[in-house]
Amino acid sequence: MDDLQKRSWAEIFTDNIRHNYKAIRAQLPEGCRFLGIVKADAYGHGALRVSQILEEEGADYLAVSCLDEALELRQGGIKTPILILGHTPREYVRVLIENDITQTVTCLAKALEFSEEAVRIGKTLRTHIKVDTGMSRLGFLCAGEYFDEGVANIVKAVSLPGLETEGIFTHFSVSDEDGNENRAYTLSQFDLFTTVISAVENAGSFRFNIRHCANSGAVVNYPETALDMVRPGLLLYGYGDTSGRFGLKPCMRLVTTVSTIKYYGSGTDVSYGRHYTTDKLTRMGVLAIGYADGLPRASSGKCSYAVKDGFAPQCGSICMDMCMADLTGLKEVDVGSEVEIFGEKNSIYNISDAAGTIPYELLCAVSKRVPRVYR
Ligand SMILES: *Cc1c(COP(=O)(O)O)cnc(C)c1O
Repeated sequence: MDDLQKRSWAEIFTDNIRHNYKAIRAQLPEGCRFLGIVKADAYGHGALRVSQILEEEGADYLAVSCLDEALELRQGGIKTPILILGHTPREYVRVLIENDITQTVTCLAKALEFSEEAVRIGKTLRTHIKVDTGMSRLGFLCAGEYFDEGVANIVKAVSLPGLETEGIFTHFSVSDEDGNENRAYTLSQFDLFTTVISAVENAGSFRFNIRHCANSGAVVNYPETALDMVRPGLLLYGYGDTSGRFGLKPCMRLVTTVSTIKYYGSGTDVSYGRHYTTDKLTRMGVLAIGYADGLPRASSGKCSYAVKDGFAPQCGSICMDMCMADLTGLKEVDVGSEVEIFGEKNSIYNISDAAGTIPYELLCAVSKRVPRVYR
């Protein structure tokens, strides 16, 4: 990075991505495929760089949320199969096929559209069927009274011309949460998923090559759900292994610098809204990071950042491009010093908890303005 621009940056530890990939892989049953989730710019880590690493390491599949994200990878030279988890408009079926991209099919209406379009251009679109087993988001509705209709619709979808159904998947909503009720819910989702697969295979004398459902929570907590492929996202980036069983390492460190330092007497109001007032002679630093860089404004006044000789409490409202932190007594910190927002010394959970959110949101929120520096 250009030293003149030293403001805020995100260090990405590529060795840790490799380490996490291998550590997760080592836990999988023999023959189980690995799909790396690289949507949302690989949770802020840089989709192309992360995909290159996963391809080198031997990942079997990658997944993104939309066509733009898939094309970025293909145009960057990624050869690994790519699954689009979200919807793609029928006008782009040709682009999907030409770029060898696998499309999720979430209902019969979409299956019909994709089929018509593929037939019209005389080509075949590779697809995975998505089953809604209780997330109540995308997917063929198959729960309870919808079972028969859901199965019948999937049977129709997999037999349409112009579509080659390679896989089938579902998504868990509470596999990462503790408690008996969450365990029962997840296992009932898994049970419904496997029941739907059997019903479709029996009805259609058809075999799904790749059955998959395990997100990060399930990879850690429900190894029995691995089936033919797992789909970890957060785990890959070093979070979500709540039991620490996999020994994963965080892959991002968000760093800013001190722009200026001022001394304020007791009783000085700091930042927008005057929500913070000094109660002592305060050595206040202005940090070159704000909510436009991805720092959650909801964490204002509720967290501390790591500096060389300790932790600096953040004070007052976080602004668009900067925020303030109390550097009183932190003698090693000067103008230009590095401040770790989250990373090795300051867990991302300190910031996400303060903001009332989850690490996922913080990682994705690190904005385009923040250069990624690969180590
Ligand atoms: C985002 C996503 C994942 C990955 O979730 P993590 O909790 O990050 O492992 C897996 N599957 C689908 C369908 C997703 O949308």
